[in-house]
Amino acid sequence: MTRTYQICTRCVMDTSDARITFDSNGVCDNATDFYSNVLPNWHPDEQGANELEIVIEKIKKDGLNRDFDCILGLSGGVDSSYLLHIVVNDFGLRPLVFHVDGGWNSELAVHNIHVLVDKLGLDLFTEVINWEEMRDFQLAWFKAGVPHLDIPQDHAFIATLYKFADQHNIKYILNGGNISTECVRNPMEYFYYGTDMIHIRDIIRRFGSVKMKTYPFSSILRHKVYLRYIRRIKVLRPLNYRPYVKADAVQLLEREYGWKPYPQKHFESRFTKFYEAYWLPERFGFDPRRVQFSSLILTGQMTRDEALKRLEKPAYDPSTIGSDFEYVARKLRISTDELGHYFTMPKKFYWDYKNQETLFNAGAGVLKAIGLETSIKR
Ligand SMILES: [Zn+2]
Repeated sequence: MTRTYQICTRCVMDTSDARITFDSNGVCDNATDFYSNVLPNWHPDEQGANELEIVIEKIKKDGLNRDFDCILGLSGGVDSSYLLHIVVNDFGLRPLVFHVDGGWNSELAVHNIHVLVDKLGLDLFTEVINWEEMRDFQLAWFKAGVPHLDIPQDHAFIATLYKFADQHNIKYILNGGNISTECVRNPMEYFYYGTDMIHIRDIIRRFGSVKMKTYPFSSILRHKVYLRYIRRIKVLRPLNYRPYVKADAVQLLEREYGWKPYPQKHFESRFTKFYEAYWLPERFGFDPRRVQFSSLILTGQMTRDEALKRLEKPAYDPSTIGSDFEYVARKLRISTDELGHYFTMPKKFYWDYKNQETLFNAGAGVLKAIGLETSIKR
């Protein structure tokens, strides 16, 4: 199924996102959805500040007799780092701060996590994922030939988040997800749902070789339905209630904490860097920077021309990609030939394996219809 190449006239999303549609002016559905559904309901202004203040007071009150009044996962990236800063510094909340160490932290991420936690005087709860299990789990995704190789890292994060929230009886999850830098969604064919346990189990059954004894799993039924709607754990995205300009956030973090910026979003993990800068664009023809830049264009933080110019060059450094390739192979304890085989093998997608896409989409539709969720993943 090939379609004629087309790029949006407003942002830089193009037909590398197979399900993209364009109107008669050549504007993509991401941009149309942003202007008609997201922007009118987005209030990073006084209205948002007032709404947020009410929620913050409630979080404080509910947390009075608890060790923590909320929970926050820190990857060391800009969004979660800046969120931690405002949560502690501006709001005076007492978050349980956790980090998931899946074995791929960059030195930069480790540095950034520690400068923040140290200066803010917080304890850090680190969940170290058993490396033998993580390695085998990641290898299974390579062997499956699919693009969504980041599920082992993503799933561990979500499961750990809900585990700590449940253990410490925490009612509020603070999430760094935000409209400002993430209003354009990643295409489903490359970033499938990380919590579809039917899908995960199928991949493990076919390609895994190690018993997953300690890796943290959480089904969507448990964390989205039981914990969120029965136990009433709430998720709040504070960055949507006030102005959030990425460049300003980076500056503040550098100045106040000695935090150091990354060359690209999600580069706090060496694996994600390899995967998003090299594997996805070169094996699957999809460059995640399109989504990131398009979000910044729609929210007025980057021009379309600048994005196009930056997209002309690859996200990886061609002079070091050879050693990055070797690093990933060595770390996964496979030969570069074997990794090269996974790179060139026939492409597979989530629909080539058992999955619950229909159920997940239906669930998302129901939650949106009853007003519990605001956007649908494509
Ligand atoms: Zn567009």
